[in-house]
Amino acid sequence: MKAFEWASPTTINDAVKLLQASAATHDPDDAPRPIAGGQDLLTTMKDYLTRPERVVNLKNIRGLDRIEGDGKRGLKIGALVTLTQLAEHATVRSDFPGLAEAALSVATPQIRNLGTVGGNLCQRPRCWYFRLEDAVCLKKGGSQCFAATGENKYNAIFGGGPSYIVHPSDLAPMLVALGASLAVTGADGARTIALDKFFTLPSEGSIRRENVLHNDEIITEIRVPASPVAARSSYLKFKERESLDFAMSAVAAALELNADKTIKQARIVLGGVAPIPWRVPQAESFLVGKRLDASTLNEAAHLALDGAKPLAKNAYKIPLTQALVRRALAKFQA
Ligand SMILES: Cc1cc2nc3c(=O)[nH]c(=O)nc-3n(C[C@H](O)[C@H](O)[C@H](O)COP(=O)(O)OP(=O)(O)OC[C@H]3O[C@@H](n4cnc5c(N)ncnc54)[C@H](O)[C@@H]3O)c2cc1C
Repeated sequence: MKAFEWASPTTINDAVKLLQASAATHDPDDAPRPIAGGQDLLTTMKDYLTRPERVVNLKNIRGLDRIEGDGKRGLKIGALVTLTQLAEHATVRSDFPGLAEAALSVATPQIRNLGTVGGNLCQRPRCWYFRLEDAVCLKKGGSQCFAATGENKYNAIFGGGPSYIVHPSDLAPMLVALGASLAVTGADGARTIALDKFFTLPSEGSIRRENVLHNDEIITEIRVPASPVAARSSYLKFKERESLDFAMSAVAAALELNADKTIKQARIVLGGVAPIPWRVPQAESFLVGKRLDASTLNEAAHLALDGAKPLAKNAYKIPLTQALVRRALAKFQA
């Protein structure tokens, strides 16, 4: 790990000032970084994927570790709320069940006890080549995505090119399905970013980054609006090892039903299959007005995977994800 300066501010404004890069910083991965639970940042530092000149501890800033609100008012989740807090929060479990399921699906209790919501959304990709110190892939300033023609079992089937990472966060697809937004503060002041505009495809923006956050910006709060789909939300994830693993594929589903049990509104966002949470509007609009019978589930699953472009070793993600879509929707049949 490269030597770094440690700073522990107590206010957001001081933290933002400390995140300003020095004039000597030319590579984005050498710029100062905020640290929350450290579950991802420290690993990237140990492997020299990031080499921040200064690490800015957010844990001494008060007020960022609270969950407020409910299904009627919407939720405000402080960026330092841990995954355990979110998964175990009684109101989240009753009014936004899919969000509690997504938080509970992450890693192990130890990681959930330390990992925060803000850090989970900003964690870096898990592609083997990106994580391998000696592989200078596109996302580390190189000229090639090694996964495109190499070991790509875990890589993207949607939205890939020129890099084929998948976004690793389990919270992200569910929060996108719930219409969440982020409150952010940086050197230029505060702004709100809709979560579906936060993540960037490798073909957009900087290939070195996965989102639109500036280096001197901090996420302070995640806002989840009150919504008629929140109470019928669900997160289903397939992982290779049951004990702990990232999603090989996942489905965040949220539905509003009419009194006659037909679907009024549907949101379906796929995880583990694209560089960003992958919304599937063709399946969502097909579902409107339908009942959740077997043929509707089959057709929605088929439409959700329409347009997938698998690489040599990950075509299995198509039937796997179709099965997850069917099962996520079937939960609401009763
Ligand atoms: C073995 C293992 C298994 C895992 N499995 C899963 C899994 O199944 N699903 C899943 O979703 N995740 C998984 N993770 C990732 C884990 O959930 C994240 O590493 C963790 O949530 C990150 O939160 P943190 O607070 O520790 O972030 P940190 O490590 O402190 O930070 C992560 C990144 O976010 C930035 N950051 C942190 N907070 C903020 C903020 N408020 N504003 C702006 N930037 C910020 C940091 O600068 C850094 O770039 C796993 C991790 C490990 C080690």
